[in-house]
Amino acid sequence: MKYESLKNYIGGKFVDASTTRKMPVISPIDGKHLSDVPMSSSEDLNNAVAAAKKAFPGWSRTPIKERVQVFFRYKYLLEKHLQELAELCSEENGKTISESIAEIEKCIELTEFATSLPQLVTGELLEVSRGVECRTEHVPLGVVASIVPFNFPSMVPNWTLPNAIALGNCMIIKPSEKVPLSCGRLAELLKEAGLPDGVFNIVHGDVEIVEAICDHPQIEAVSFVGSTKVAKIVYQRATGNYKRCLALGGAKNHLMVLPDAIPQMTAQNVAASMSGCAGQRCMAASAMVGVGNVDHIIDKICDEARKIIPGQNLGAVISKESKERIERYITEAEEQGANILVDGRNAVVNGKEKGVYVGPTVIDNVTPDMAVATEEIFGPVISIIRTKTVDEAIAIENANPYGNAASVFTQSGGIARYVIDRSSAGMIGVNVGVPVPREPFSFGGWNESKFGVGDITGKSSIEFWTKLKKSTVKWNAEAGVNWMS
Ligand code: NAD
Repeated sequence: MKYESLKNYIGGKFVDASTTRKMPVISPIDGKHLSDVPMSSSEDLNNAVAAAKKAFPGWSRTPIKERVQVFFRYKYLLEKHLQELAELCSEENGKTISESIAEIEKCIELTEFATSLPQLVTGELLEVSRGVECRTEHVPLGVVASIVPFNFPSMVPNWTLPNAIALGNCMIIKPSEKVPLSCGRLAELLKEAGLPDGVFNIVHGDVEIVEAICDHPQIEAVSFVGSTKVAKIVYQRATGNYKRCLALGGAKNHLMVLPDAIPQMTAQNVAASMSGCAGQRCMAASAMVGVGNVDHIIDKICDEARKIIPGQNLGAVISKESKERIERYITEAEEQGANILVDGRNAVVNGKEKGVYVGPTVIDNVTPDMAVATEEIFGPVISIIRTKTVDEAIAIENANPYGNAASVFTQSGGIARYVIDRSSAGMIGVNVGVPVPREPFSFGGWNESKFGVGDITGKSSIEFWTKLKKSTVKWNAEAGVNWMS
């Protein structure tokens, strides 16, 4: 489908950006030109901040139980438009329709959590000395920003917007210029759900807008999700300007597979984890460490991988550049002596020759120093490293600079606990290929996968999107005078 050229969404209206600079939005499925996205200027950001600032007093003073009513209605609208939102997501991102449906279902779950926030932010009250009470309140920060990546056009915006807004903030989102369409539709649904104008705003753009967000004196907090390289830049720049910042980065997730793992279940989990969303998930399995003789499981992983067909149950990767980069990694590993058991290079989907597909790829005999073992590939590729012991496997996992996820496949509870205790990642799986914690548990990695304190979703996000006000109150003269008076 062809969409009109995109506009920013400021103060409840779609408005033209002040610049003429644009980028094409191309569907990775078939190379079709979907739309153009404006590369806004700092003037556009200033307008969005002004709209958000204007909306803030009214919105922040609306009681939270009233604010979340918007999100009950938004959840209903997400359900009502699930198929349409999923189709849009697939079109711009390239993932399969069933993956897009799962993405919108996750948005619904995230919104459900936001509707429960009144139960979680009740604050505390205590008589701290005779006649004197202390009380805490979670107070919204003001205007906040969310910068998001290409791989989940709807879900990552919904990691931040429902909680930040339900907690009383006004938000500006900077969508990925590669997948800018879904956010606009979310804005329409939020408006239909009754969100007042100015509370949610969209400014499209690239580096210039990200830098302007980090520098803007009236933006109180910045959340970022994307690559580690950019997460570091954003974290440094935003905190250098004395803002709160939580910046989630890239990943290299290790699955440790032991010989006693249930073969079929393990193979299905490994294959699904490496290839889901074409390997473009920050929780995807990227390296597998086979401990001891796991040939029987690797054979099954290859069988499962061969059932994953580009254009059928495997979506496209985001761009031609991305496909070339992924295939370069595979070729380099082959040249260095790794064994390509299943080769996804040069995948072409009939009738969609302009689409960008990489088939599932299983690489065996990878050594820990190869680029496929250490770098984030972000494609449907699993690199298998062999070790003799669990400790060697853990050492390899620990040595990687990232720390989003790690999983172990075994039937031994003792070994599973041993690996949980020693893995250096924020989210650990036991016999689970994609160990994403579901609400109310929070999402967040460690090491170079996250910069800042706390997590981006779940209960942990309350601390990020609010500040604590402590009031100490005395109402009656009988309380007398003490050292607090
Ligand atoms: P990216 O870092 O290229 O882009 C993310 C955002 O930053 C986009 O909005 C983009 O416009 C902006 N940006 C890009 N380059 C910039 C620069 N030099 N200066 C300022 N802003 C810049 O990431 P991507 O390619 O869109 O997304 C894929 C990456 O995101 C992967 O590394 C993946 O692991 C990571 N990711 C991490 C998580 C997590 O939870 N840790 C979740 C999703 C994606």
